[in-house]
Amino acid sequence: MYIKNVELTRFKSFGSTTSIPLLQGFTVVSGPNGSGKSNILDALLFALGLAGSKGMRADRLPDLVNQAHSKKGRMVEASVTVTFALEEAEVTAMQSEGIEIPTAEGQNVGEWTVMRKLRVTTQGTYTSTYYINGTPCNLSELHEQLAKFRIYPEGYNVVLQGDVTGIISMNSRERREIIDELAGVGEFDRKIATAKDK
Ligand code: ATP
Ligand code: MG
Repeated sequence: MYIKNVELTRFKSFGSTTSIPLLQGFTVVSGPNGSGKSNILDALLFALGLAGSKGMRADRLPDLVNQAHSKKGRMVEASVTVTFALEEAEVTAMQSEGIEIPTAEGQNVGEWTVMRKLRVTTQGTYTSTYYINGTPCNLSELHEQLAKFRIYPEGYNVVLQGDVTGIISMNSRERREIIDELAGVGEFDRKIATAKDK
């Protein structure tokens, strides 16, 4: 599977709805400094609920709304939609493992979308909702689904600027934790820790 499209509406520097197609394999995004390349990665972290552990570059969620639209006393909505492409064989393989691939009416079998909407009210308060294939869900439900695709909040599916230098300056125990995470052991260690807490 791969991410085939990221659509941003009023998210950070993207004032109007912008659809960014990503190719299977390798896609390079190039552009001048400050043109919004890293904002696309921020959008991915935002939509997939990975921002908490990965440190998206914004102090508060409302800062993510495009400034041209975020006027005081006006309600404004920003959203990011991430579309995953799943090959038919992948869908079949997952189903045979008992993993349900939710698909909305009329949608291609091999398409799976995650959307997150951020709504800032006239009072400046905000709400945020996640959707899987158009159906609202909470963050833990989303994480549960993403885990089936081996996408983890603590994982290295998204490698950010600074991650590499971070790894170089780690001590051996911290580096071992990364290997545990990549090997999939980390998930079980967390489950053990949670069970011990209870
Ligand atoms: P570099 O090559 O320097 O890494 P980049 O292409 O990665 O640059 P980004 O960091 O993605 O650039 O984009 C930064 C731009 O996004 C800045 O110009 C900043 O003003 C703009 N920006 C960030 N948040 C908002 C917002 N809420 N509304 C409008 N613009 C925003
Ligand atoms: Mg950048």
